[in-house]
Amino acid sequence: MLLSVIVPCYNEEENVPVFYAELCKNEPFFQQEGLDLEVIYIDDGSGDGTAEQVRRLHEKDPRVHLVSFSRNFGKEAGIYAGFQKAKGDYVVMMDADLQDPPSLLPEMFSWIKQGYDSVATRRVTRKGEPPIRSFFARMFYRLMNKISKTEIVDGARDYRLMTRQVVDAILSMCEYNRFTKGIFGWVGYQTKWLEYENVERAHGETKWNFWKLFLYSIDGITAFSTVPLAISSVVGLLFCFAAFVAIVALVIKNLITHDPVAGWPSMVCIILLVAGVQLFCVGILGQYLSKTYLEVKKRPIYLVKEEL
Ligand code: UDP
Ligand code: MG
Repeated sequence: MLLSVIVPCYNEEENVPVFYAELCKNEPFFQQEGLDLEVIYIDDGSGDGTAEQVRRLHEKDPRVHLVSFSRNFGKEAGIYAGFQKAKGDYVVMMDADLQDPPSLLPEMFSWIKQGYDSVATRRVTRKGEPPIRSFFARMFYRLMNKISKTEIVDGARDYRLMTRQVVDAILSMCEYNRFTKGIFGWVGYQTKWLEYENVERAHGETKWNFWKLFLYSIDGITAFSTVPLAISSVVGLLFCFAAFVAIVALVIKNLITHDPVAGWPSMVCIILLVAGVQLFCVGILGQYLSKTYLEVKKRPIYLVKEEL
């Protein structure tokens, strides 16, 4: 049996060897289970020595592989490339920064042996993260689960062990806008959730800032829910109804009092409000249209520069 480990890396030169050493601590376990190992580092257009570090590891240990992208395509593209390259009967993906501890592998594997198709992890704390980021992350998951039929678990990490069947299911979803957390929920299969405390990064800085996360959350929403489109139609209807009531009220008032209609400031406010709502709804529509545009262009999800 072959176990493939997929490690997306973006400027992780310090973490590459540290991760390998940590993973190799599980060697006795792999032998005991009769598991062969294959480690696939995806170098996501790093500007530092990440690829060089992987090449060095590859010389020492041919089980280590490298896929180097022509530029930074993002973690989602890295994960997809890893899945395509992995030959394993079981596949696990982990961050290079050791925030997904390899020491959890034996426990994860024991669940697979008990018949689960996939073992996922979620962190129950967000220690070491700015409180504002945690707050918005929680809000995002609550909103997402309200408006999407696909279950997306709060605190879920991309650290997952899965069987070949699940990997093939994920590979069959070749969409351009990849929101992996949603894709896992969408494909289904029996998933066991393990919980652990957040671990801080081994070296370097997180690649995500607030703005990137915000854009990513919008990608997630448009990829797995069409509720915002429905909301914009409902808001439109509500405004039409309000306008109709106001017109009827004005006509009746005029017939009774014969007052000229006064109050242009209120008129300006209403025009601004309605124009604002309209632009907002067109914006929502634009989000879906732009995603569709990217999707129909059928561009490749990533481009490879070097492969080992
Ligand atoms: N990563 C990547 N491409 C990117 C950004 C990140 O491959 O464009 C990798 C990164 O090297 C790391 C993993 O994705 O192995 C998670 O990134 P990070 O630790 O910065 O995210 P966080 O753990 O803070 O959510
Ligand atoms: Mg990290």
